[in-house]
Amino acid sequence: MSDAILTRHLLSHGLDLVSDSHKYRKVVALRPLNKGSVVITSRPLCNPIIFPTHRAQHCETCFRTKGSDSGSGTSTITETGGGLELERCSVCKKRYYCDRDCFTIAWKGWHKWICPDKDMEDLDYEMLKMVVISIERLRSGAFKESKQSVTATAAAEAASHGTGEQESLALTEYVFSTLMGHEAISDPAEITKYKDTATKIREQLIVAKFPFKSENSRGEPPSVAELMRYLCRFHCNNFSIHDSQLFTMAEGTFPVGALFNHSCRPNAIVMYEGQTQVVRTLEDIAIGQEVCTSYVDNGVQRGERRQLLRGKYYFDCLCPRCGDEESSKRGEKTGFRILDDLIEGGQDGQDGNRVDGEWLTKQFETIILPGARSLQVPGPSLQPPTMITRSSFTSYLIHSLVPLIQTGVPEQEYTERLFEIYSALRTTPHCTPKPFTTTVMTNATSFFNTSVEHGSWALASKIGTFILALYLMVYPRHHPLVGLHCFTLAKCLWNDMEGGMTSVRLSHEILTLSRNILTVSHGRTGQNGSLVKEVEAFMRTVETELGS
Ligand SMILES: [Zn+2]
Ligand SMILES: [Zn+2]
Ligand SMILES: [Zn+2]
Repeated sequence: MSDAILTRHLLSHGLDLVSDSHKYRKVVALRPLNKGSVVITSRPLCNPIIFPTHRAQHCETCFRTKGSDSGSGTSTITETGGGLELERCSVCKKRYYCDRDCFTIAWKGWHKWICPDKDMEDLDYEMLKMVVISIERLRSGAFKESKQSVTATAAAEAASHGTGEQESLALTEYVFSTLMGHEAISDPAEITKYKDTATKIREQLIVAKFPFKSENSRGEPPSVAELMRYLCRFHCNNFSIHDSQLFTMAEGTFPVGALFNHSCRPNAIVMYEGQTQVVRTLEDIAIGQEVCTSYVDNGVQRGERRQLLRGKYYFDCLCPRCGDEESSKRGEKTGFRILDDLIEGGQDGQDGNRVDGEWLTKQFETIILPGARSLQVPGPSLQPPTMITRSSFTSYLIHSLVPLIQTGVPEQEYTERLFEIYSALRTTPHCTPKPFTTTVMTNATSFFNTSVEHGSWALASKIGTFILALYLMVYPRHHPLVGLHCFTLAKCLWNDMEGGMTSVRLSHEILTLSRNILTVSHGRTGQNGSLVKEVEAFMRTVETELGS
């Protein structure tokens, strides 16, 4: 296995891996990639680790969810009225499986070695042990591209990925060996912890008589130093696996997916179909352009992002939003570079007073919902309001940006409008507290959730529309979070009886927006695609009500 095989693999997907002075290496497009298309699918190095709190909800082998009815499993589905049922391993009583086949795959592949191990509650420990088992099985020829990988193939096809070769586990392992681990810069406490974990696993595998049969193993587990290198690589390359609603439930090592660099304004997103990782484009990507995903929430401020990226991944971000220190000092701030200044600071609550429901309700009651028709046709650039309040901010952002997403204007046109908005927000006077800070976003989100829980639909519709405006300001327009939020907002509008038909019409418009965004972020096939179908089914209900 060599770089040539990796190059060929990427080439079959229209990608190239080139070296980069700042980023070590980067993935660039060799052909134009349309927005909403699959860049590449990637497989895990070992079976991903389901968080202990989520184990009872997912089959450990095929990842299908308890109670679900999607038929992407490996064999006959054990289904009763309530959807998919899971059964526990009768020995450890900790891992769950949907059927005998999934249990057998797990048992032969890894479970018999972890079932009696009482230490399998620490994520690093668990991941390391699974990876050692996986690599040794591959090297000794015990690993067969089995039903497990057939599931992955099916999921990959479901993600409508027509071209490009399938990733072999040998390639996965090779790419893992090339990943940066940043061993030299980890802090001493972390190193001690890694050493303990590595030593414990080594001893445990020897006591358990795990068969190290491959040529390079010479009957022994990898050395402590080698195991520590693995841990360092997990540390800065692992992924949290999430479902179609973006709820995380597992952690996995996807070496090919880890080749993509980070940007705080990414043009691609990482999604999952079962255990298969799917990288999708959020915008059209031109030949030679780098494909970037995001390692952190784009909704958080620069300081917090910097801390996360330095602490976990050991780099300073130079993306279009962060820029470099030098030009920052010279005060050269345009475009995305303004964004973080805008969203910084601002306590939600007058003079630092406690934020209570009554105060918040007052803040949102004044928001005027946009008319449905005004969201369909992009008009000339809107004049910014003379004073930015929650209400004028909402209406300014929604009226300016939503029509551009609905009509699918090119990214450049969209970002130009966005930059106009950023400069206007910077120069226009605003009320106190500043309506568009991350603190306000956090408070508004929890207030929105409370309003939904209590069924206060009229209020939830107003807060939800304000949050949509904030999301459009901060996140890429086709970010899955924006699409998911629109779906929830549309449900609030639909339930809002006070709003009458006006609210129903707006609900339909927001559903169309949700559909347009999720078609890009989730696609129309596979488990993620069923979400788009759900949105469309709801649209039909609303259309019936509208009599169209
Ligand atoms: Zn299963
Ligand atoms: Zn067990
Ligand atoms: Zn950045």
